[in-house]
Amino acid sequence: MSLFLRSAAVSDQGVTRETNEDAAHAGPHLIAVADGIGGSPAGEVASEIAIKVLAALEAEGPRGSPLEHLRSAVAEANRRIREAVAGNPQLDGMGTTLTAILLTGRRLGLAHVGDSRAYLLRDGALVRLTKDDTYVQALVDRGAISAEEATTHPHRSVIIRAVQGEPISPVCTVMRPRRGDRHLLCSDGLSDVVDEAAIARALRDYPDQRACGERLVELALAAGGRDNITAVVADVSGHGFWPP
Ligand code: MN
Repeated sequence: MSLFLRSAAVSDQGVTRETNEDAAHAGPHLIAVADGIGGSPAGEVASEIAIKVLAALEAEGPRGSPLEHLRSAVAEANRRIREAVAGNPQLDGMGTTLTAILLTGRRLGLAHVGDSRAYLLRDGALVRLTKDDTYVQALVDRGAISAEEATTHPHRSVIIRAVQGEPISPVCTVMRPRRGDRHLLCSDGLSDVVDEAAIARALRDYPDQRACGERLVELALAAGGRDNITAVVADVSGHGFWPP
């Protein structure tokens, strides 16, 4: 009995942006979202580097500690971003958020830097698995503003941690996956404009991963679509018999 992911990624440039600086991967063992920063073309370059490095974990096969794999992939992505900047001053300042889930055997690892989120829908209830590395989240943590105020704060898109060539440790979590769990990874183009109740409803109402991702993108576009929007929807599935 081995677990795998049925996953799909849907991404849209949005209504006002001229390029899509988000990048994503949706495979049987790895899902990831990266939201590039630094403006075009730098943002796209950084998010693409990160996703390319992470996607290589898929090819290695699902063995060993998921967090070790994720940590070394983030370090490698960081190194490649630093090298790319060193080779081209126009890319100076580029970086990317990175949120990734890797399934190895019966363990699931999550690595997170930035403000692209991971959610888990289990038994119909939605739980957010990541905390935004943002200025407003730091204000919430300090008790300076409420979580409610953070959702409309003018500086809510300011991130304080990114994969940007400087030493960075992703926040890592390991979980025991269950068949039937549904994960969502998304860029802030979705979570900034669609509230969690509406996200949960879409995750419950659309069993097909791609149809669900398309629905989420549609909701973000309907809410203005001012940023690039990316949603990766993945269901934990298993071959063969699995005791309930
Ligand atoms: Mn964004």
